[in-house]
Amino acid sequence: MVGSTQSCLKACITGILAALVWGGVAAAECMSDYQEQIDDYEETIVRNILMAAQGDIERFFDLDLDGFCIEYEPDTAYFIHVAPDYDAIILGEDFLFEMSSAPWNFNSLISILAHEGAHGFQVKHDLISSLDFDSGGYVKCVELHADFMAGGFMRWSSGKYKMELPKLSELFYTLGDHEYTKRTHHGSPPERFLAFKNGFDAPADDEETLAVMGLAYVYGENCGNG
Ligand SMILES: [Zn+2]
Repeated sequence: MVGSTQSCLKACITGILAALVWGGVAAAECMSDYQEQIDDYEETIVRNILMAAQGDIERFFDLDLDGFCIEYEPDTAYFIHVAPDYDAIILGEDFLFEMSSAPWNFNSLISILAHEGAHGFQVKHDLISSLDFDSGGYVKCVELHADFMAGGFMRWSSGKYKMELPKLSELFYTLGDHEYTKRTHHGSPPERFLAFKNGFDAPADDEETLAVMGLAYVYGENCGNG
């Protein structure tokens, strides 16, 4: 039995993989019969957009994802790390359609996937445990830092795709929650809006500089709940 780390966009389904036994999942595979690798997804346009997004996320965050999977049930997206070295982004199919439909669009969806890619960066560089610890076991510091890094990713992507910062920031505003006393509290609407926007505006030339600026940002915003 091994440990796993699961970080998601909204309140996670906790403990879903707590008893997962490592079975040696091969590269570019998904871990569940309810998941499908994006390369095999039958909707061609969606598949091509998401495969391009995966390539961008891996390049920007210097990640090598083992899986980028569509899952049929969850109304969310999440990043999962299973020791020793399995990393994947999981995207709920209904959530995919919700987030790529009006008033949102694929840029909104990709900014969410970038948030999950940022969790991959946090795991790779062992930032989760320190951010978690500094916020007293709450996830808020981890999540606002991922929002900040998603903003930096989208600014980098804006050199390639047309996108509007106000609408993307508005998305993160809507993702905020008011469950301040829960460990799953990800940040209030204004906090998530500002974390994303400040990441977008951060003058960082590479992902490591962006990450350091993100750390300074979240600590400056007193992300801890304690
Ligand atoms: Zn998250």
